Amino acid sequence: MPTARPGYDKLIFELSRPGRHAHSLPECDVPVSDPAQLLPAQHLRATAAELPEVSEVDVIRHYSRLSQMNYGVDTHFYPLGSCTMKYNPKINEDMARLPGFLRLHPLTPADASQGALQLMHELALDLAEVSGMDHVSLQPAAGAQGELAGVLMIRAYHLARGERRTKVLIPDSAHGTNPASTALAGFSVVELKSEANGDVDLLDLERHLGPDVAAFMITQPNTLGLFESKIHQITEMCHAQGVQVYMDGANFNAILGITRPGDLGFDVCHFNLHKTFTTPHGGGGPGSGPVGIKDHLAPFLPTPVVVKDGDEYALDWSRPQSIGKLQAFWGNFGMLVRAWTYIRTMGPDGLRAVSDNAVLNANYVLRRLEDHYDRSAPGPCMHECVVSARRQKKLGITAMDIAKRLLDLGFYAPSTYFPLIVEEALMIEPTETESKETLDEFCDAMIQIAREARENPQIILDAPVTTPVRRLDQTGAARQPRLKWTPPGKA
Ligand SMILES: *Cc1c(COP(=O)(O)O)cnc(C)c1O
Repeated sequence: MPTARPGYDKLIFELSRPGRHAHSLPECDVPVSDPAQLLPAQHLRATAAELPEVSEVDVIRHYSRLSQMNYGVDTHFYPLGSCTMKYNPKINEDMARLPGFLRLHPLTPADASQGALQLMHELALDLAEVSGMDHVSLQPAAGAQGELAGVLMIRAYHLARGERRTKVLIPDSAHGTNPASTALAGFSVVELKSEANGDVDLLDLERHLGPDVAAFMITQPNTLGLFESKIHQITEMCHAQGVQVYMDGANFNAILGITRPGDLGFDVCHFNLHKTFTTPHGGGGPGSGPVGIKDHLAPFLPTPVVVKDGDEYALDWSRPQSIGKLQAFWGNFGMLVRAWTYIRTMGPDGLRAVSDNAVLNANYVLRRLEDHYDRSAPGPCMHECVVSARRQKKLGITAMDIAKRLLDLGFYAPSTYFPLIVEEALMIEPTETESKETLDEFCDAMIQIAREARENPQIILDAPVTTPVRRLDQTGAARQPRLKWTPPGKA
């Protein structure tokens, strides 16, 4: 374990020695100016900033060690359900680093940025094709922002027809971003009951539909990893009452080339390029959540829209009914290059194989675990499976304990306690990029933990012992981070 070796326990401030530096520049041969002569007094510090003074070797070792303490899909299996932590092919990175893309200023005039505009236009067409939507905006920077854009377009649509609709219906199995973006767009959120398998309760839907409802928003496949089988009936019931139907497309990895939201009757759907289309999730780095719509919502698309006129590409700003601009410049362009590359390297058959294998892998995991953990629903699953630690909880071991023990066994934990409708939920999404060997190692670890819960629960309750930190107060760690690491035993 790298953290047990010397040096891993130091902050860069503790490595600091006065006068030590990482640069080697020749003596200055021009007159040195005093900043106080050049800058207004209110912009000058009274005391120098307390920056670490370290050598180049110190800097390189420090950050290389930090990177070794990190956990990512390039080093390990990452079965975090709903998040689709699949491998990100490195050819995507090569393409995004082509100087013509990398160095292009976003304000370069259209006649000098035709290649970038063409790529955006083609990516939007590709996403429209896989989803059965008529138009796609590439601007939103995350799934959540795609949701916001979609709901704002729905709002503008109803208002343009002179209808005041104030409510959005969302099942209780939904991802937290669904009610959040809906509320941000000014709607009130009405929670619908799900049936035990996560399907929508049609009677409850019928009861709530009415002239004050703007939209119904659902994840398909749903957050239990199951395909909502009554979806045609649901979209028809909604449309009969003038209600728009939104598909949270975060689970698109399950249906590529198999079915399309547009064909299922959805009016709007967003994509998570950082999930389905292999752009990096990158520790808070840029995401991309394009949003697709049917023709009747086109006037409300965010500006600008990339258009093609003959052989020329351009940005169209003249859209009077647009919901406006959502994002700096034209979205996270580097992510668009990566997603375009992924779609082109896979091709239609390759994309279809992605979903076939994602579903196969999840079902393999589910079958291997079903004797050891409670299932959340009978029958096969789609691209992820949800099991419950209900049985283990009776022995004093919770889903959280199991997640912590997995870290000691060398695996990132599945999503825990989501979806909220499953007690002690563990949501496992293996993705298509993992080998059978890796899936078996993970299942072996899960089965070992189920046995330990019966025979040696203390080892689970003590976990993790191999990580840089043990169990954190999660709220405290987020609100009052303690950056100093104390080696085990020295607390
Ligand atoms: C990830 C996810 C979202 C939100 O997407 P972000 O890109 O994280 O904003 C919404 N719904 C579901 C089901 C998701 O898995």
